[in-house]
Amino acid sequence: MADQKRLVILGSTGSIGRNTLKIVEAYKERYQVVGLGGARNVELLLEQVKRFRPQYSCLLYEEDYSTFKDEFERLGCQLLWGKDGYRRLAALDGVDTVVSAMVGAAGLLPTLSAVESGKCVALANKESLVVAGHIVMASARKHGAKILPVDSEHSAIFQCLNGEKRETLRCLILTASGGPFWELSKEAMDEVGVDDALRHPNWSMGAKITIDSATMMNKGLEVIEARWLFDVEVDKIKVLVHRQSIVHSMVEFVDGAIMAQLGSPDMRIPIAYALSWPERLDLDVERISLTKIAELTFEEPDFGRFPLLALGFEAAQRGGNVPVVLNAANEMAVEAFLRREIGFGAIWRVVEMVTKRIEFSPCDSIEEVQYWDGIARLYAEEAIRKEDKG
Ligand code: MG
Repeated sequence: MADQKRLVILGSTGSIGRNTLKIVEAYKERYQVVGLGGARNVELLLEQVKRFRPQYSCLLYEEDYSTFKDEFERLGCQLLWGKDGYRRLAALDGVDTVVSAMVGAAGLLPTLSAVESGKCVALANKESLVVAGHIVMASARKHGAKILPVDSEHSAIFQCLNGEKRETLRCLILTASGGPFWELSKEAMDEVGVDDALRHPNWSMGAKITIDSATMMNKGLEVIEARWLFDVEVDKIKVLVHRQSIVHSMVEFVDGAIMAQLGSPDMRIPIAYALSWPERLDLDVERISLTKIAELTFEEPDFGRFPLLALGFEAAQRGGNVPVVLNAANEMAVEAFLRREIGFGAIWRVVEMVTKRIEFSPCDSIEEVQYWDGIARLYAEEAIRKEDKG
C-alpha cells in the first residue's frame, strides 16, 4: 500500500511502545512497522517481531544479540544491538515516523539520529529535550524534521495551539495529577515504599515515570520539555495540580481565553494523535462522562513538599548543564530507589546533593552533555552510597 506510513518504534517493549503497537494493530492499513527497538525484554520483542514482521530490530546487549540473532533472522528480521544499532534504526531510509520511547537520557542519541535524517519524530522520550533541547530543536530546524509530542500534557498544548498565532500566547498551563502522595506530609513521604510509589492514581505507565510522578520530578522535566518544544520562556509556563487527570493541559491567550484539551487518561490518545497528525483516528478508548466526573479541581503545586518540582523550574531557568545534571542524578536515584537501596525521601536528597556540587557550564555540544551526564552519575553514586549507609 503506497500511502502506508512506515514506522520505527524505539522502546517497543515499554508502555508507550506497547500502546503504539495496539494502534498499529487496529490500523494495519495505515501503518507498517519497519523497525522495533527493545532493550532487555527479548521474549516480548520476539513476540512483537512475529506479529508485526519488521525488517529490523535492535537489542541492548551484545550477548543477547549473539544468542538470538538466528532466531530473529529466521523471521526475516535483521537484528542489531547497542547504541549504534538504535542510531541505525532511527535513521533507516524510507521511514516516515520514528516513535522515540526509550527510557531516560539513553534516548538522546537515537532521537538525534532520527532528527538529523529529517524524520517525523513522535517524541515520548522527554529526556532528549530535557538534556539537549537547544541542540535537538536546532537540528530539527536545520534538517526539516518535525517533532510531535507524545507526552500527554505537550500533546494537549500542541492541540490547543493549533492554528493560533504565537504572539497571542500568554502562558502554558501544565496540569499535574499530584501523584499518589499529594495528600501526604513530607515526613510521611519518607516512609513510603516502592509498591506505594508505583501505584499511580490515574495513569498506567512504566516504573521510572511513575516514580517521577510520585516525586513530581516528572512535572519539572515536562516544564523543561515544554520550554524547548514550544520555544516559550520559562516564566510563561505554569503548573497546576489537577487530581482528576481529565484536563491534560491548557494554553492561555492574550485576550483572556483559555483553551484546554480533555480526555480520559489513556496514552493511546496522544500517541495516536502524534502518529496521525494532522488527522485523527477513531479510537476504541473510554469516553469521559463529564456529568459522572462532575467536578474538576485545580490547586497550586506545593514546592516545599515536592522540592524536585522546584529544582525542575530552576534548571529550566538556568539551562546549560543544570538540566543534564538534574536528569542524570534523578535517573540514578530512582533506579536506586527501585532496587530498594535508598528510601523515597532520599531521591530528592541525592539529586539536590549532586546539583549543588556541580558548577554551571553552558553545555553547547552533545559531547558536553555526555560529559556532564557522566560526572553527575558518578556523584550520584557517591551520594547513594552515603544514603545507603544511613
Ligand atoms: Mg506527561
